[in-house]
Amino acid sequence: MEKLQVGRASLTWLKGGVSHLDGGAMFGVVPKALWQKKYPHNDKNQIELRADPILLQVDGKNFLIDSGIGNDKLEDKQLRNFGVLEQSKLEASLESLGLSVHDIDAILMTHLHYDHACGLTKKVAEDTYESVFKNATIYTSEVEWHEMRNPNIRSVNSYWEMNWKPIVDQVETYEKEIEVVEGLKMIHTSGHSDGHSIILFEDGEETFIHMADIMPTHAHQNKLWVLAYDDYPIRSVHAKEKWMEFGYQKKAWYTFYHDAYLRAVKFNESGEKTDEVKRERYEYN
Ligand SMILES: [Zn+2]
Repeated sequence: MEKLQVGRASLTWLKGGVSHLDGGAMFGVVPKALWQKKYPHNDKNQIELRADPILLQVDGKNFLIDSGIGNDKLEDKQLRNFGVLEQSKLEASLESLGLSVHDIDAILMTHLHYDHACGLTKKVAEDTYESVFKNATIYTSEVEWHEMRNPNIRSVNSYWEMNWKPIVDQVETYEKEIEVVEGLKMIHTSGHSDGHSIILFEDGEETFIHMADIMPTHAHQNKLWVLAYDDYPIRSVHAKEKWMEFGYQKKAWYTFYHDAYLRAVKFNESGEKTDEVKRERYEYN
């Protein structure tokens, strides 16, 4: 498992599963001739996207950034359509670090689409689900939490009842931003979904920014390269404009949940990559 230290924060990437989605949908209006130079695709034009939660350890607390695609939520047809060749191995990942799901103090949910939220609950009987991280506070923006429970005709495909009903007592929401511990903030951006948030950590000179699905991979660095999946693409562009500029000035690390090749990259003031954390790759079978 890859690790990164940023000031007081230790980051470890866990195994939350993988999907393979259409490259065109993941790069929106960007022509294939351009995006294919930045990120590999297979013969079905799909690109490999991990759904790997980051274990974030700060000041003796264990946090997770998002929760993976779970183990028992997707039907055979969905596994096929979403190109899921591996489901979540989160419990095993935590065990290998001497931790269990009960040691997680809080989960920072960037948004609640199924590929981020399925790991929050598990099936215990037919049509019966329960919370996985029983001791955790689950943070999400007020707007996201509202939409999850009241999805519209489009977002109903991404917000699933089985992922929110069992956790209602654990959820804590915020309007614009919340400081979870000193220096660690969740900030509402909208864009990918109306309630989408990013995560910012600052400790002295050290900074990381988790842009979540407004910069899902290193190939999405360009401020104008936003997903066709985004509900409010212009808001994604503006949020990227702000937070890429901010991060370049701070020489920040950018961390990824979906990137199948790089876990994190660091940029200088000109936006040139100066460092990276590679993902250790393996075959799915
Ligand atoms: Zn996503």
